[in-house]
Amino acid sequence: MSCIFCKIVNKEVSADIVYENENFLAFKDINPRASVHILIIPKKHIPSVDHIKPEDKDLMGELILVAQEIARKKELKGYKLVINVGREGGQVIDHLHLHLLSGDLSHLP
Ligand code: AMP
Ligand code: ZN
Repeated sequence: MSCIFCKIVNKEVSADIVYENENFLAFKDINPRASVHILIIPKKHIPSVDHIKPEDKDLMGELILVAQEIARKKELKGYKLVINVGREGGQVIDHLHLHLLSGDLSHLP
């Protein structure tokens, strides 16, 4: 598997990991767009939201709960959750990921 995020899951590529549980890994974005910019990824390789299947329903619910847990632990006052889907949607890495952004977000849509 040549996917860079799978390699991070398998610890073949290093990342600044901030959270891990059975199904998810979260690490700091290498090119942060805000003072807090964390990527939350399922350990399971799902290319994008466009590839989610009905059996992934619980996993996708847990994804949002993981974001909430990280935000609470970091005592974030507010935050933005972003998922880019497909090249036209701004997705560059083809392993589903949720951007958790906080801090000054005024430059973001
Ligand atoms: P997207 O445009 O939604 O696909 O976002 C991909 C994000 O992954 C970008 O914000 C990149 O800065 C980030 N990124 C790419 N490679 C790495 C890496 N090795 N470690 C951490 N973040 C990465
Ligand atoms: Zn992957």
